[in-house]
Amino acid sequence: MTTFAIGVDLGGTNLRIAAVDSTGKTLEKITTSTEVARGRDQVIDEMCAAIQQITIQQTGAGELAGIGIGVPGIIEMQTGMLHESPNLPGWHNYPVRDEIERRLQTAVVLENDANAAALGEKWLGAAAGVDDMCMFTLGTGVGGGLVLQGKIWHGMTGMAGELGHTNVEPEGHPCKCGSRGCLEQYASATAVKRLAQEAIASGTAPHMANALKQDVEFTSKKIFDLAMQGDAQARGIFERVGKALGTVIADMVNIFNFPMYVVGGGVASAWDAFAPSMLETIGRNSFVYRNTAPYVNAAAGDAGGASVHGTIITRALLGSDAGLIGAARLPMIAGKANAPEAELKRA
Ligand SMILES: [Zn+2]
Repeated sequence: MTTFAIGVDLGGTNLRIAAVDSTGKTLEKITTSTEVARGRDQVIDEMCAAIQQITIQQTGAGELAGIGIGVPGIIEMQTGMLHESPNLPGWHNYPVRDEIERRLQTAVVLENDANAAALGEKWLGAAAGVDDMCMFTLGTGVGGGLVLQGKIWHGMTGMAGELGHTNVEPEGHPCKCGSRGCLEQYASATAVKRLAQEAIASGTAPHMANALKQDVEFTSKKIFDLAMQGDAQARGIFERVGKALGTVIADMVNIFNFPMYVVGGGVASAWDAFAPSMLETIGRNSFVYRNTAPYVNAAAGDAGGASVHGTIITRALLGSDAGLIGAARLPMIAGKANAPEAELKRA
């Protein structure tokens, strides 16, 4: 009998839910807004109602394997507690997993949203078939996830992989985590906007100031568009994004010697603007990278075509669905401690 699972991506703005079967096919997907301001219990109520509805609609799709939920914040894996989440005020030390299990009477696996995204890319995205990788999610903040031997690396309590809070400038911009100069302060959408505002305030970017005056939303996408149109200050901002990201990836390459590093999240769509400085920084800072640089092997491709070997640094493939797909994957592999993803991947 086929099985399916429900994946939930609980963000500070959107709540997304999908039913995904064990082959990776998305059966149904819904998106609603998360009305965080209405309080935790209201959000949980609405989430549980939506999960129940989608489960009933998919009863013909086989047996429900469970529910996986990706949440932004610091999680304690053993207890399913959310310790700290800047996007979910009022959820501090809240037993999210137990509360949802109690209401739905179904097994729930809780995971950090960036870890879930890494698992999604590892299952069906850029890292399919790769057992050791890490993923950076460049969004409002910067999330990170490590996959070692096919499984998410949780560390002692489940808080490992906070790549957004690795340091790129010891005396840099203050971070809400309490440190200064974290990657998140230079490579998130929030950072791109801040760097643009700083450039405008300094008076060195009149063209950008003019262009953004007409943009009420003032998005990082707009700054990317300016960069691609050749605006020097906008290009400089994305060069800084690339340099910060490259600094951390170079360290990761030196530490882990992984075969793949995946960059996803909304800011990854500005890849063309930041990738050159990112790759230049990695090449300069990491001697392991220089000794494992990617090369094309024309003879050894899986389907007889060319394939790339060596250290691969690439864009994510699943877009905003990575966390949702990864969340649905969680209950499918839960408890299978010795069954790494590689054995479960699609033929
Ligand atoms: Zn930080």
